[in-house]
Amino acid sequence: MVRFMVPTLAVLAASAAVTCHSRPDGDRVQLQSRYSASDLAKRDGQKDYTHVCSRIASSISPSAVHYPGSPVYTWLNSHFSASSNQPSACVAEPRSALDVSTIAKRVLRLLASQTVEIGTGLKWDDVYAALEPHGVSVAGGRVTDVGVGGFTLGGGYSWKTNQHGLTIDTVSAFELVKPNGDVVKVMEAHDSELFFGLKGASNNFLFFKGIVTKITLKTFAQGQVWGGFLAFTDPQAIAGLGAATAKFSTQVKDPKASILSSFSYLQGNPFSGVQLFYDGPNPPPGIFDDFLALPSSLANVSTRSHLSLILSTPANETYGLRTYFDTVPVVDYSPEFLELVRDTSAAAGQELASTSLLMFNLVAEPFLPTILSHNPSRTAYPFTRAKMYTPFNIAVSWTNATDDKVIAEVVKKVRNTLSKALVAEGQSDIVDAPLYPNYALYDTPVERLYGSNLPALKALKARVDPTNVMGLAGGFKV
Ligand SMILES: Cc1cc2nc3c(=O)[nH]c(=O)nc-3n(C[C@H](O)[C@H](O)[C@H](O)COP(=O)(O)OP(=O)(O)OC[C@H]3O[C@@H](n4cnc5c(N)ncnc54)[C@H](O)[C@@H]3O)c2cc1C
Repeated sequence: MVRFMVPTLAVLAASAAVTCHSRPDGDRVQLQSRYSASDLAKRDGQKDYTHVCSRIASSISPSAVHYPGSPVYTWLNSHFSASSNQPSACVAEPRSALDVSTIAKRVLRLLASQTVEIGTGLKWDDVYAALEPHGVSVAGGRVTDVGVGGFTLGGGYSWKTNQHGLTIDTVSAFELVKPNGDVVKVMEAHDSELFFGLKGASNNFLFFKGIVTKITLKTFAQGQVWGGFLAFTDPQAIAGLGAATAKFSTQVKDPKASILSSFSYLQGNPFSGVQLFYDGPNPPPGIFDDFLALPSSLANVSTRSHLSLILSTPANETYGLRTYFDTVPVVDYSPEFLELVRDTSAAAGQELASTSLLMFNLVAEPFLPTILSHNPSRTAYPFTRAKMYTPFNIAVSWTNATDDKVIAEVVKKVRNTLSKALVAEGQSDIVDAPLYPNYALYDTPVERLYGSNLPALKALKARVDPTNVMGLAGGFKV
């Protein structure tokens, strides 16, 4: 068991939503927690929650609590997606004994259990960096700057998903801190219903039972990987990317190989890219040849460390913009469907030309049909493991809040166009298939996320959060 991040716990119960962050600061790593009282304030009108902040300050240190106007407050209230920013009453920044030397000592306690206990406030970049010296990794995020907490509690599609399943399929325990300060482990053997609910139903079950502060994940041996990013602006190359992606998704059965193909409209121009991944220093010949043969405007593919591959992804370019995600469940990627994806992305970009749109991005995420076989246990997402649907991603970034409505309408139109095309191809069961909660648009009905699991999740909700405190926080509510 490896432990390398323990957020300060005593004050977590004062908040409806908590996010913890780590950041390098010279030769120190500071651990910070963000306490959002704004949802509580919304419930009760403009109630003043400074007393909650005062309690937090007296529990740790007055200098560790920051209020609106301070730079630390501003920084910790910002989010990858500006449209998800949620100003809090204050920000608490615990400076516990968890400095780098403690963290390092704990990391060195790598035991035979082959699991790692990870603080939910970390970014995957931090996790991979800490594990890399030990020759192990986990089935976590694929690109830089994604958080452990939301990613894991929603499901988690990883570069290792073809080999080991979703991130939730590799969880052996959740650590919760209860409102009274007690620390409890949620495991299959102790509370199988809550263990099931925490795997895919995001933050629905947390307050009454506690706040998830750590997640125990299986580790896997990790050596050098091969991969990186190829970008295309040439129309022939963009067309070729669709054909190569369709061929990869039907022909490549090697579970160490994985790709993400993006068909984008970026600042007024068609733009495409593919992220290639092979879990080994040299992919077998043939797997990625079609992609490598396309004339690229940018190529960043090499044998490298796992962390280096994660950091090489250009995901941060839309940090701080307004964002919508949406999703379409896809079984098979045909060349014709990917042609439509390319054309639809360009058409959507052109339709939104008069708005503050920066990027309209459609991302094919092919996975092997066996990915759900790695875990026989029930999970909140997906509600059926009888068949695998890949999470095709619609990701849109823009700047002006006044454009939110028109962009949402186009996102929905694109989703419907692509869904209809898949149905016309014979993939008719996608209309009832599970939608990935971490990609679903804000107003997606929970029935589409949790389907036949919904009655069990509602019963669980009634048991662990009878007063619906977590209903005050954002996200999909059962
Ligand atoms: C650039 C980018 C790349 C992505 N790539 C992938 C990918 O490869 N695979 C994939 O599966 N998904 C991917 N996603 C989607 C990602 O899984 C979701 O955006 C996820 O919500 C990110 O988690 P977070 O902790 O960073 O986000 P946050 O916005 O901080 O949290 C999301 C939700 O989780 C809740 N939450 C977070 N931490 C906790 C906690 N400790 N306890 C209780 N609730 C908590 C929050 O309340 C919130 O409702 C990507 C997203 C982005 C922006």
